[in-house]
Parts: sequence; C-alpha cells; structure tokens
Amino acid sequence: MARHLITSAIPYINGVKHLGNLVGSQLPADLYARYLRGRGHEVLFLCATDEHGTPAELAAAKAGEPVADYCARMHGVQADLAQGFRLSFDHFGRSSSDQNRHLTQHLAVKLHEAGLIEERTERQVYSVADGRFLPDRYIEGTCPNCGYEKARGDQCENCTKQLDPTDLINPRSAISGSTELEVRETKHLYLLQSTLRDRLAAWIDEQADWPVLTTSIAKKWLFDGDGLQDRGITRDLDWGIPVQFEGAPWSGMEGKVFYVWFDAPIEYIACAAEWAAAQGKPDADWERWWRTGRGAADVRYTQFMGKDNVPFHTLSFPATLIGSGEDWKLVDYIKSFNYLNYDGGQFSTSQGRGVFMDDALELLPADYWRWWLLSRAPENQDSEFTWESFQGGVNKDLADVLGNFVSRVTKFCRSRFGEAVPEGGAWGDRERQLIADLSAGLARYEAAMESIAIRRAAQELRALWVLGNEYLQEAAPWAAYKEDPDRAAAIIRLALNLIAVYAELSAPFIPDAADTLRAAMKSKTGWPADMHAALRALPPGHAFTVPEMLFRKITDEERDAWQARFAGGRG
Ligand SMILES: [Zn+2]
Repeated sequence: MARHLITSAIPYINGVKHLGNLVGSQLPADLYARYLRGRGHEVLFLCATDEHGTPAELAAAKAGEPVADYCARMHGVQADLAQGFRLSFDHFGRSSSDQNRHLTQHLAVKLHEAGLIEERTERQVYSVADGRFLPDRYIEGTCPNCGYEKARGDQCENCTKQLDPTDLINPRSAISGSTELEVRETKHLYLLQSTLRDRLAAWIDEQADWPVLTTSIAKKWLFDGDGLQDRGITRDLDWGIPVQFEGAPWSGMEGKVFYVWFDAPIEYIACAAEWAAAQGKPDADWERWWRTGRGAADVRYTQFMGKDNVPFHTLSFPATLIGSGEDWKLVDYIKSFNYLNYDGGQFSTSQGRGVFMDDALELLPADYWRWWLLSRAPENQDSEFTWESFQGGVNKDLADVLGNFVSRVTKFCRSRFGEAVPEGGAWGDRERQLIADLSAGLARYEAAMESIAIRRAAQELRALWVLGNEYLQEAAPWAAYKEDPDRAAAIIRLALNLIAVYAELSAPFIPDAADTLRAAMKSKTGWPADMHAALRALPPGHAFTVPEMLFRKITDEERDAWQARFAGGRG
C-alpha cells in the first residue's frame, strides 16, 4: 500500500465551468483517485476554488454583491456541481481561506529571509474615479495600429498587436469608463526566480519519468531568451491576501495584496490544512502529506492540469517551495491535457458556446458524461465533442455492451432459476478460456491506469465488457437450458459473478452505475486480485435483484435538439 497525494488544477471562481474544463483536470484526477483507493492505497485528493484577483472583483460587481459574498456563493455552486459529477475530493477548499492566508504570508517571509524578494518601483495607470490602479487589460481605448475602438491595454483583439496602455488613444477605465487616468508610481515585491534557475534545472533533470513535452516546456522557460524572469508577486487591489501581517517586514506595502498566481498554488497545501481542520484533526495529519521531514517522504504526488498551466507548475510554484528553504513536498508527476473542442469550434465561456457542467447534469446523469469525456480525453492531442460521438459512446459502449450484458443475464436467470445464483454444472474449456482472457485484459487495464493512460484504460475496460458479451453469445444459456439446465446454470452463475466484477472494475469511470450493480448483486467484493476466485465470490443461493435499466439510449431527436440548443448564446 502506497500513499498518493493528488491535486487537480483549481477552477477560477467566476462562473460555472464547461465540459472542456472538467476533462482537463478535475475528472481525470477523480478517475485516478478512485482507482488508487479501489486498489487499497491511501489517497488524499484535493481541489479548491481560486478566488482572488480582478476578475472575481468585477464578476461580483456585475452581480451586485460584495466580493466575499459572491465568492462564498459561487464556491457553493461549484461544490454542488462537483458532487453532481461525483468528484470524490477529500476536501474542496477555498484559496480565500484563513489557512491559505497564513501559508502564503509565511512562505513570502521565508522567501524574503532567503534574500529572494526585492522591492521594485513601477509606473502604472491609476484611475482616479475608480480609486485604484488598473491592470493593463482593464484599460480600453482606440488601437493606434488599426483604429479598433475597444482595444485593451495589453493587446488589440482586432489586429492582435501587443500594446502598452500608454499607446492607446482616448484611454479609459474598462471598469467605470472614466477617462480620468494618471500614471503613478507604485512599489511591488518581486520574486527573484532568475537566481533559482540552476536549482530548478537540477530538480527538473531528476524527473526521469516526466513526459518529454513537460520537461521541454519547462526548459524553454528556464533557458530561452534571457532565461527565467523575476516575477511580480503583489498587486494594488483590495481583494486578496494582504502583504501586511504581524511583524511585517514590508512597510510601504499597505493596501497591496499578493498576486493571485502567487497564492493560488499555495492553496494546494492550504487545502490539506483545511481538510484537517474540517475533520478536527491536528496539523500533524496534513503535514504528513506535505512536509518531507514530517512523514511525506514516501508520498507520491501527482498533479492534473491543462497544458497551459504546465510552466506555472514546473517552475513558479516549485520556485516558491524550493526558495523557502523548507521541506515542502514537490510534485512527482504532472499529467497535463490538451484541449477539448466543441462541435467544430471551441467551447466559449464568454459566448456561452458548448455544454456547461450544470446543463450537462440537467440532461443526463453524471456517468454518461464521465464515460464519454474520459474515454475521449484530450491526452496526446486536442479532441472534439460532437453530439453524434456522444450519442454513439453512450448507446454503443454503455447501453449496448455493459447495459445489455447485465440485463440479459439477470433477466434470464430470474425467468429460469429465480433471483438467486443458480447451482449445478461446472466450468469447461470455454469458461477457462474466458477467465484467461479476462485475466490478461485486467492486467492491461491496470497497467493503463497505473500509467494514467486514460483513453487506453477506457478501451481496456470496454474490452473486458465485450468479452462477457461474446461469451454469453457463444455459450448461449437460453439454448443450453433446453437440453441441459445444469450447463445453463453454470454459465449464468459465472455471468452473474462477472457483473459483480464489472461493478468493481467500472467504478472509477462510472461510479453510480457501479453502485447500482453492487446493490443489485448484493456484492461488495472489492478489486479482483484473481479472476478465478473473483468469479466464484457469489456462491450458489446468493440472492440478487434485477437492476433497473442501467443506461438508456439517446435518441436522434434528442441529439438534434441538444445540438441546436447549445450552439451558442447561453444566458
Ligand atoms: Zn488594432
């Protein structure tokens, strides 16, 4: 038994996420966590909402709520949707927690003591009417290059030219529209990442099992051009973790907060502290997951994220932890994802294009989405959601293969032998062949799961379901029953046991269906260590019930209606 720490990239607080977001981190992390728990390992699986920064302030203002209230409400919305998709977090935390404030301030002090923080003066645009400094992207004006009137201070969306806010003609605040803007001096703290370059490079060189894609992205940021850049870690904002605290080393930082990108990954750690506090456990209980000197030396830590987050997790967050000089656990393996596209284009939060998590659960139960999304996960390249593909995955894989097997076996048994595992007959060559095939397939399935090869794991699981169907078709208990009822009993006894095995093996992908099967078979056998033994676990006389239809098919009419409904313009 091993100890596994698993984190999913933490979703930003301002709104409901779409299915592309879900399959890019939370859902595959859940699959892996469920698999490892199923194998008997000790798992701590953490996720949280990322709550600080200007977008949260603006979303709250738009909703007419104080930002703290807005974040609390949206955390509740995201937590409910996570529950709806059966994401089995041990804790779903908040980056605005007391624990994260404490840890972020603590790490900043440690970095300062290590000589890795420097104060720098900058010139930045200040909006008198808004009473605040404006980030570049919240200044709008006319593009000097193409004349587009809604160009942003960092870039013109129309002609893609990179801009400085001072380039804009008729600049105004994107928050209030005010043109009363001034350039003022302001001080910020910088993390001297450049001085950590060699230590980060040495650490990355130790990661022998990382995909080349991951290490090459990290090395590009480390060495290309001028190399790894120092990074501003504070902002002139109200909403965030104050750069002020007891014994503060930084006078002159009043009214400033840490940059959201500095405190968000620290929430991975703080979330463990929140988990311990919520359970009434002492700090030692979470520190044994995170501090190598306090028990975390044998933890394997895996992170899940979209590919755009890789530089951050291979460099910036490790720079914070390594630079602190403390014994924080560093990531062992990063599983990153490409993008899921939507029906010939992209998912778009701003245009309301595509299926969002709340819409999805309104249409169909979580398992339908989990299966399609995981079995088509954008692992090595982008993948695309189409309604045709979704209909095909649900109808062919879930309804025709797994659902059909369960239905035929349980209904046949009920009509011929009653609702209990029948006795009589014995396994022959065909059964021995099936068990050999199932054993080999199980080994392939486990190997795929161990290496977090998600699409391959889904294919191997489906192949195990297919073996059951093929066996049933060939052994034909309905025909055997007429000549030799004992032979039919032996076939059905094995097939009923196979349903209980399928429940365990399928649980990481489709946990609700697995629970339905366990309840129907009155079984909780656990992960099969050995197919021979597992297929005898339910003895003759063991009672079961015929489950309700496990998966329903999606009709062509539904498919067409949903495609039209989600083409864009979500409210
Ligand atoms: Zn332009």
